[in-house]
Amino acid sequence: MSPDPAPEFPDFSHLPHVVVIGGGFAGIATARGLANKNVRVTIVDKHNFHTFLPLLYQVATAMLEPAEVAYPIRTIFGKAKNVGFRHATVREVDHVRSVVILEGGSEIAFDHLVVATGATASYFGIPGASQYAMPLYSLADARRLRNRLLSSLEEADAAADEAPVSLNFVIVGGGPTGVETSGALSELIRTVIKRDGLRIDPSRVRVLLVDMAPRLLTPFPEKASKYAQKELERMGVEIEFGRSVVEVEERAIRFADGERLKVAAVIWAAGVTASGTLAHDLQASPGPGGRVRVTPDLRLLESSNVWAVGDAAAVPLDDKTFCPQLAPVAMQSGRHCAQQILLVLEGAPTKPFKYRNKGIMATIGRHAAVAQLPGGSVIKGTSGWLAWLGLHLWYLIGFRNRLRVMINWTWRYFDWPSGPRLIVADAETAE
Ligand SMILES: Cc1cc2nc3c(=O)[nH]c(=O)nc-3n(C[C@H](O)[C@H](O)[C@H](O)COP(=O)(O)OP(=O)(O)OC[C@H]3O[C@@H](n4cnc5c(N)ncnc54)[C@H](O)[C@@H]3O)c2cc1C
Repeated sequence: MSPDPAPEFPDFSHLPHVVVIGGGFAGIATARGLANKNVRVTIVDKHNFHTFLPLLYQVATAMLEPAEVAYPIRTIFGKAKNVGFRHATVREVDHVRSVVILEGGSEIAFDHLVVATGATASYFGIPGASQYAMPLYSLADARRLRNRLLSSLEEADAAADEAPVSLNFVIVGGGPTGVETSGALSELIRTVIKRDGLRIDPSRVRVLLVDMAPRLLTPFPEKASKYAQKELERMGVEIEFGRSVVEVEERAIRFADGERLKVAAVIWAAGVTASGTLAHDLQASPGPGGRVRVTPDLRLLESSNVWAVGDAAAVPLDDKTFCPQLAPVAMQSGRHCAQQILLVLEGAPTKPFKYRNKGIMATIGRHAAVAQLPGGSVIKGTSGWLAWLGLHLWYLIGFRNRLRVMINWTWRYFDWPSGPRLIVADAETAE
């Protein structure tokens, strides 16, 4: 049998080269807008997969598998021959020579560069927080958190022969991530006690959600906050407002009022920042939250060929404010950026970016969610939850992932306690 002929790789080297740093919502949207056009595109990402961040909390609380919320970037662009991928971390951008410098020192030259490096957890300089609190910003974070949660419950079961054990899980931050995670965690704990037979006294397990603000979900109207609070409390989550964290230790947390609480885990959902990321270093004076300041067409100030999109960019909303760091902003800004690069290459004038508000939503547990529609009206309860399910399925990348998540969610609708409650040891050290 003769061997398969070597595959032929089309030569795109004569085309303008667009380098996109980051394969998140913004980077993928940019590259999709440039796919099969007269440009050569290279996406550079430190992970070889795109992560659907809004469902990370379901991986952390053993509702979904990591592979169900991630998708290989090469597979996304399998049919677009002009889009390539480089698995690497970008260390630096040299604006003068128009090259990006990778960890390890190799370089990639560009005609246009799109910075879509996202944001990261913000610890506000609180001692011990970056070391001991557990963020939820990557697939590795979600696996680490799942390990910690399940291991803590197993340890409590093992110690049950000697003395009853108390477990405190503290979630810092009452935004959508904090609300979603605390609701799901409370359901996970009830499940392992009831279904898996762990010998843990439910009255000794606390899921405590703390925030400095006086209410949950501050971007939502007050009635949505009250609804979320009522639902979470019904699920057994304790909520404390006006509490600020002053220190996180390996297995303890300290508050400004002097209380020191022993904890099984501190889950950090207190906010995001671009400080400390590549985007932060692109300008001498970075914008709000370390984001890159951009012109209305999404180019860096004083640059003709470097663009920034998504969470990494301070995208103007109007003369005074900036767009929120949300998935729809990332996708819309990525698409807009691709169109503007093509216009520039044609010698045509560019257009300013206009954000179309798609609303915001947060799920609180099974059958409960709040959604604020673009006009300002709020839907909650089961209809909010169904809207949340539909939207997340729609935006999840990959037909196979959509199908698997839909099957899992449907299965769990009827048999909630099923779920991948696996402690995978290597996740403690994985990046
Ligand atoms: C837990 C969580 C839940 C969320 N829930 C919602 C929600 O329900 N609804 C909503 O609208 N928004 C939600 N968001 C926000 C939303 O996910 C972000 O706004 C969106 O992901 C931003 O997209 P992005 O492409 O700008 O950045 P990201 O999605 O963060 O992607 C950035 C990419 O850049 C790569 N990268 C970073 N630095 C480098 C480097 N130096 N070299 C190479 N690659 C690099 C990263 O690996 C990553 O793939 C949530 C965010 C989190 C963390």
